[in-house]
Amino acid sequence: VNGTTVVHMEDSADVAVPRVPVATSSKHAAIQEQRANLPIARGKEALLNEFREHDVTVLLGETGSGKTTQVPQYLLESGMAGDGMIAVTQPRRVAATSLSARVATEQNSSLGSVVGYAVRFDERSSPATRIKYLTDGMIFRELMSDPLLSKYSIIIVDEAHERSLRTDLLIANLKTIQQQRNEPAKGKGKEKEKEKLKIIIMSATLDAEKFGKFFPGSKIIYVQGRQHPVTIYHCAQSQVDYVDSALRTFFQIHTDQPPGDVLIFLPGQEDIESLEKSIRLYANQLPHGQQEVLICTMYASQAPGQNAKVFHSTPPNTRKCILATNIAETSITIPGVKYVIDTGKCKEKRYLAKNTGGGFDTLMTRDITKSSAMQRAGRAGREGPGFCFRLYTEDSFKNMATSAEPEILRCGLTSPMLQLKCLGQSLETLDLMDRPDIDSMISALKTLYLIGALDSTGEITEIGRDMAAFPLEPVYSRAVLASKEYGCTNEVLTVISVLSASSKVFVESSEQRDAVAEARRKFKHASGDHLTILNVVRAYNDVALSENKSGRREWCRKHFLNERALLEAIDIREQLQHTCERLGIDWKVSCGEKEDPVIQSLGHGLVSNTAFLQPDGSYKQTMGHSAVKIHPSSTLCDKKVPTIVYDEVVYTNQIYARGVSIINKSFLAGLGSLKVRQA
Ligand code: ADP
Ligand code: MG
Repeated sequence: VNGTTVVHMEDSADVAVPRVPVATSSKHAAIQEQRANLPIARGKEALLNEFREHDVTVLLGETGSGKTTQVPQYLLESGMAGDGMIAVTQPRRVAATSLSARVATEQNSSLGSVVGYAVRFDERSSPATRIKYLTDGMIFRELMSDPLLSKYSIIIVDEAHERSLRTDLLIANLKTIQQQRNEPAKGKGKEKEKEKLKIIIMSATLDAEKFGKFFPGSKIIYVQGRQHPVTIYHCAQSQVDYVDSALRTFFQIHTDQPPGDVLIFLPGQEDIESLEKSIRLYANQLPHGQQEVLICTMYASQAPGQNAKVFHSTPPNTRKCILATNIAETSITIPGVKYVIDTGKCKEKRYLAKNTGGGFDTLMTRDITKSSAMQRAGRAGREGPGFCFRLYTEDSFKNMATSAEPEILRCGLTSPMLQLKCLGQSLETLDLMDRPDIDSMISALKTLYLIGALDSTGEITEIGRDMAAFPLEPVYSRAVLASKEYGCTNEVLTVISVLSASSKVFVESSEQRDAVAEARRKFKHASGDHLTILNVVRAYNDVALSENKSGRREWCRKHFLNERALLEAIDIREQLQHTCERLGIDWKVSCGEKEDPVIQSLGHGLVSNTAFLQPDGSYKQTMGHSAVKIHPSSTLCDKKVPTIVYDEVVYTNQIYARGVSIINKSFLAGLGSLKVRQA
């Protein structure tokens, strides 16, 4: 790449002074010593010089070298940020919350003072905050109220290699913002000069060319990490059940191999929970004298703080076993790992526009890429030579895609398109690193038009602007706005808060299927899943009035409800109430026990997610051409009703509608351009 200088930071692994714990040293001193020993620390001054001299720097470096935690602190301590704040963006909320907690500790301050975070529905910051970790989605949202992001003097775009949708949109905007903020002030200098903006792009992988080209004049810097050799084993045959295979591999390591923690990569929460259970079960049956097994988990929807356990040092005579999604690939480095078990799978959001009419996002379990496989193996060699057990064959590895496709090319664009419209921008004209395909753009425009966010000329409507003010998918904000007309904002906010929580409120248990069904019957509403949710929240609120914390927890356990999801929903609801107040919507208005207003409000948003019964018992989408079935988890799953509205489709061996309610046929027919076709 033109103008690239490689600043090699010495590998200090084998020359490092042994870390002798000083008996008198406080915890803080120990942390400062850890900081000083990170690979990036040696290059601190060189790095700061590069940052000082360039408007845009691309910083590449091995996972765990200290980029995310140290660079913001170096910048703060150097005074380079002036009076402005330093933003560090993350594609994942867990990374934003847990890394900010770590950096606050390193700064010897409490979270929310000097160091804070902001993720959707949750923020900890104060006027004193100078370093803010935030999701790329949150900073993108800030563009609406502050188009030049003027409160930040340095913006660090972290994990850029992941190419998340919001990261791509942010990068596109940062380029123009920087041009505007950094151009020499014209005129007589009377006007207060705009605060300059520095951009730092950070990535764990080495494909920096694209970023370098996108920002002409940028500097690419490489920080050498500490990587020890990792021996990689492949399976001789492909595995049918990767969870089972991971279980067996773990116990082989545990019984045969010397001490060292094990990190297992799995695609998602369900697999993590199921493997956790099996490992616990077998670990309890191990003969006495064997090392204990300590299980930690790490996945996206985990509550902040819950994952802190993975960083605690492993107790004596214990092997830590960490079950994680691809969060542990590059975002979060877990110390002590010597063995990695890689299932070769991950979950990926993908938009199915073709063959499905309306188009929808699905979360699918897929094979990982070569780049992920290499990152996963690398996690075993952070502190010494390690081992990686791949639960797939060498041929499968060779057939993997090199690296992941940018998210903008494979996911639904409704929400970003609406946000861009608010900013007076459009996907067609924005200077993007990669441009999405036309089908996805049309599909998003169609949805936005159907819910009334855009008019027939593609201009944003007044109601469209109001929709964008909510931190929700536009289809849900549309429902909240409709609830004003139907006089049921209170109820709609409750339902939508639960739907927006990061985990499901209903706990599934395949072993106790009958007990689950029995418990659920109490909440069941004849109209379907949305009012069933409302019943759950009402029941929980009643219990909360009379029971203490442990009583509430017990009640949730007995009813197979996820209390964490309920508590999160209550928080979300509060945030949505604030937005309502800003928009002059009275959120206290309630429709009592009436069901139609609630479902019809939802129907205004979920127009694309409606379907009607066909003679064969399946449902045909009113917007698309696909047949959907009602998901087995739905209260309506064995019912035949003329027309349904649903939250989402899940795509397994067939297309299921999940979160289903009965919707009035005449309501559907009345939705303007919609025509309910008879089968
Ligand atoms: P990079 O961004 O280059 O991958 P990080 O700055 O994330 O590196 O990590 C630097 C070091 O900080 C790692 O050794 C990691 O284990 C450690 N670290 C990060 N978060 C925590 C935490 N919550 N507790 C203890 N150590 C942590
Ligand atoms: Mg990092």
